Amino acid sequence: MRANVALDQVAHDVTACQVCPRLRAHCQEVARVKRAAYRHENYWGRPVPGFGDPRARLLIVGLAPGAHGANRTGRLFTGDRSADFLFASLHRTGWANQPNSTHVDDGLRLTGAFISAVGRCAPPDNRPTPEEIRRCLPFLVREITYLRHLCVVVVLGQIAFAGIWAAFELLGHPPRRPRPVFGHCAVIEAVGADPIVIASYHPSQQNTQTGRLTPAMLDQVFVRARELADRAGPRISVSRVRRSITAPRRTDSLGHKTGGVCGPIAPRTGPRSGGRERRRAGRLRPEPQCRVRRSRDRNR
Ligand code: SF4
Repeated sequence: MRANVALDQVAHDVTACQVCPRLRAHCQEVARVKRAAYRHENYWGRPVPGFGDPRARLLIVGLAPGAHGANRTGRLFTGDRSADFLFASLHRTGWANQPNSTHVDDGLRLTGAFISAVGRCAPPDNRPTPEEIRRCLPFLVREITYLRHLCVVVVLGQIAFAGIWAAFELLGHPPRRPRPVFGHCAVIEAVGADPIVIASYHPSQQNTQTGRLTPAMLDQVFVRARELADRAGPRISVSRVRRSITAPRRTDSLGHKTGGVCGPIAPRTGPRSGGRERRRAGRLRPEPQCRVRRSRDRNR
């Protein structure tokens, strides 16, 4: 399936999801009551899908929609102060065509980047429960699977940082031991089929207004992401995992359509799929491996 079609299907499934009653009730209540400044607007009030370039080499993972940002506008990191801070940096570092993200028809385009989150419904006090994140992670897993050029993941904040390792485990990657430690601009090297992960403080007002996260610090993260993505080459290493996923499309116990991705991964049996023959016939291009010069990175 083409990446943009597959990602559209994920977006459709996210938008229709009703699995977490507490979060659905909260989003609808916020959309009903509204903030005074937006009282004439129609709030989105539904779960918010990821968006961006289907050929992304960079995936940016946040926590969850803001109550009066994405829950109002229907697009992640859109219409609030976190969005202003994040997109100013993405524009300066060449990942976005404009420095603001105000509403879905504002002309914003991401080049080589895709934005997602570990939770898709605005949580009370910006705090989803661990169980709510666990229920929502299969959507992120599906997006990772369909982003075939992905090399680098930037995670915004500690909860997203924990979530990305859980997502990799759902993809069937072995758990990291010891657990990677969160720190701003910490680079966690790719192991096996994982993309490279860069940690960042979340661009919440709590961090940006106190100076814990400055524009220069966030720029540093996205400049580093570009260096690593350029070095890694044009293809995602997790494509190896995708080829091994053979479970049929189904719905899991929580009602998510898994697309055969989130369930147990069936081991490969029988002969290989004939890739060599198809390559000879010119219908399948060879996939260069994701290359990272690890020794150089450690010295930085
Ligand atoms: S699983 Fe995700 S999208 Fe579905 S209701 Fe829960 S938080 Fe919202």
